[in-house]
Amino acid sequence: MQAILVSIGDELALGQTVDTNSAWLAGRLAQLGIPTLKHETVADDLPELSRTLQQATTQADLVLVSGGLGPTPDDLTREALAAAMGVGLEEDPAALAALTGFFDNRGCPMPERNRVQALFPVGGRTIPNARGTAPGLRVNLNGTKLFVMPGVPHEMKAMYVAAVEPELRAELDGASGGRPAILTRKINTFGIGESDAAQRLGPLMDRERNPTVGTTVSRGYCSIRVRAECADPAEAQRKLDATTQQVHERLGPLVFGHDDATLAADLVARLIQNGQSVATAESCTGGLVGGMIVDVPGSSAVYPGGWVTYSNALKQSQLGVPAALLDVHGAVSSAVVQAMATGARDRAGADLAVAVSGVAGPGGGTDEKPVGTVWFGLATPAGVQSYRARLMGGREAVRDRAAKCALQMLRFTVMGESLRQIRWLEQMAS
Ligand code: AMP
Ligand code: MG
Repeated sequence: MQAILVSIGDELALGQTVDTNSAWLAGRLAQLGIPTLKHETVADDLPELSRTLQQATTQADLVLVSGGLGPTPDDLTREALAAAMGVGLEEDPAALAALTGFFDNRGCPMPERNRVQALFPVGGRTIPNARGTAPGLRVNLNGTKLFVMPGVPHEMKAMYVAAVEPELRAELDGASGGRPAILTRKINTFGIGESDAAQRLGPLMDRERNPTVGTTVSRGYCSIRVRAECADPAEAQRKLDATTQQVHERLGPLVFGHDDATLAADLVARLIQNGQSVATAESCTGGLVGGMIVDVPGSSAVYPGGWVTYSNALKQSQLGVPAALLDVHGAVSSAVVQAMATGARDRAGADLAVAVSGVAGPGGGTDEKPVGTVWFGLATPAGVQSYRARLMGGREAVRDRAAKCALQMLRFTVMGESLRQIRWLEQMAS
């Protein structure tokens, strides 16, 4: 079985609302082992809707539609479906009773316009909506099962779970050979680019392999996506775990977690385990590093706090950075981040401290220190070190990557790993 997902609405086509329904539905279908061929987003346009539904049902065995079931003249999905089927609309007395009941419960009469929501294309049927007024629709068109659900995400999800998924499950269970199990995992890394990752993963990324291994990048993270598909769920799990292990072997400590795990959460867990604390001294990141740490529940056990010292004056008064260092080397320099880190570590009484000072742009860059130049100081019981990175992107990207770099540096320090493995970090002679 193969699915096409259709999202309907002017606000989606215009980009005012992001289509979250299709992403959610594709994930649910994947859990059943049903691959999605494509997502289509269509404006509230009767001829185009009809054409889309007609075409989708000739291409896939399952079409899931959401949106356009409201009572107003811009909600055209019912008519478009009837037109695609070449039939008229009929009123469902049970759906009408549910609609009037919905309004009775709220103590108001049903507006006449809502009556259209009880209509369904002849040959199909309605699906009850436990959360709102719009019933769903279930029809067969071109030998394909087609479900229409409301656009409102929580109504759509409730209807899918109550009415659509059980029918799909029943059909899959009845089919010969059963359905394959599809298991996926996202292995998250920071400190390596996509092409480097691909090179290290080598033959693991062969397209014919099962599990398949692919990479995606987002906001400085490079994630390795593993997908195992087997008739036997236990076998799929074994394959997924074995490939995960191989990915870990090839990428080592750059991997900080799976699926929704964050860099800061892994750092905090390791600090707790080692009984170590960390302080922060931030200039260009303006508190992002501290914020990411505090996002993690339980971080108070390892994070006494930090300083946002954006001006030279505050770097001196709060962290004790000597004025002479600022004058001679400038705020974005090895000497200053070392002094910031040392000042933060001493003042917070922490085991470790990280300092960040850089040129986030768009202005302020020079030939010697172009936009994206970021210095990091790292103070540990063994002394203080400094590192430089040249980060790409605009102001927001530079600050975000710099904060993540600081977290990964701390994480590597706690793990006893060489910071050289973080691709865009250069250790500078102090
Ligand atoms: P409709 O069923 O077309 O009246 O949609 C009702 C509301 O649900 C819209 O105004 C959107 O805010 C929301 N909505 C509709 N389709 C989607 C979708 N695919 N993803 C996220 N929200 C949606
Ligand atoms: Mg709509």
